Amino acid sequence: VEIMKKSSKQETVKVIVRCRPLSSQEIANGHSKSLDAFKFRLRRFETLIVHMRPQRGQIELKNPKEQDEPTKDFTFDAIYDENSTQSDLYEETFRDLVDSVLNGYNATIFAYGQTGTGKTHTMEGKSNDSEQRGVIYKCIDHIFEHMAASHNQEYLVRASYLEIYQEELRDLLEAESSKKLEIKERPDGGVYVKDLTSKLTRSVAEIQEVMVRGNAHRSVGRTNMNEHSSRSHAIFIITVECSRIGADGESHITVGRLNLVDLAGSERQSKTGATGERFKEATKINLSLSALGNVISALVDAKSAHIPYRDSKLTRLLQDSLGGNSKTVMVACIGPASYNFEETLGTLRYANRAK
Ligand code: ADP
Ligand code: MG
Repeated sequence: VEIMKKSSKQETVKVIVRCRPLSSQEIANGHSKSLDAFKFRLRRFETLIVHMRPQRGQIELKNPKEQDEPTKDFTFDAIYDENSTQSDLYEETFRDLVDSVLNGYNATIFAYGQTGTGKTHTMEGKSNDSEQRGVIYKCIDHIFEHMAASHNQEYLVRASYLEIYQEELRDLLEAESSKKLEIKERPDGGVYVKDLTSKLTRSVAEIQEVMVRGNAHRSVGRTNMNEHSSRSHAIFIITVECSRIGADGESHITVGRLNLVDLAGSERQSKTGATGERFKEATKINLSLSALGNVISALVDAKSAHIPYRDSKLTRLLQDSLGGNSKTVMVACIGPASYNFEETLGTLRYANRAK
């Protein structure tokens, strides 16, 4: 097994992997970490296919159908196994990003992976349980704590929430949210979303309220919310504007933007001869996830001069926050059970290309 050295250069793109624990349903179906005698007698056990070595950032993936096949090995900036907590991820990986936003830089966090692997758990978790608060809530806590502790600086925090479904943008803070939004370019080359609601928030409670309201709009008119969320990207944007009086007596303003993205499920949607609307959906999801992969791998590859931002709405929208001085973290979420092998392999390959 070759162990790749982690690069020591200042990383602008980090890729981490998180594996969720087995669900109770999976355990009931005989999936297990160990082959204990009880399971042997049952004759319906399945061992886990993901083996993690967090110290080395290494993951080994075993093909359950080809027992003799060597494991497929991957190395990432950090990996988090089933025992990892929301705080572990935040303290080690995300805290830095939020600090850079407070200093006026842009940053983006993506959760990528098959539906059911923990994207929403990682990004949102449960707001009312301190152990379960996901990245978005922890970022919010961090930003408001920082503001409360700082002197001689004034902050304005704004929130926007939108989703991209079938390559169309919808404002989740707008009651009449069926209106499609357009991405526009400023003369300086920057991009913005025309008419996107930007809500001024003064406290953790207020910004959480924005999140809750947006989530409610996300499901309006949806017969199956889980299905919808697995086919659309949700983007929560926090903008932090800071003004401070410099030594020259003038006020200086910096603006940092944090994009928190819960991506559409990466499972191959077109597997079973989807037709009509479903086929169109699948093609568009595949397109935007592969466009994102292409942008990130072009950013990581220093030799690449052209960054293909224009290939999807998602990358176009985030153009100002991907590359340059911006920091990006991609969290690839996976499941440990054998029936997920193909999708898990797909996710690890995608993530591997992005680093
Ligand atoms: P996704 O958004 O990728 O479709 P979810 O975040 O909804 O997946 O997770 C699916 C289920 O697994 C949820 O019930 C969630 O609470 C649970 N889950 C996911 N990740 C973890 C984890 N790291 N620890 C505990 N439960 C998890
Ligand atoms: Mg989800």
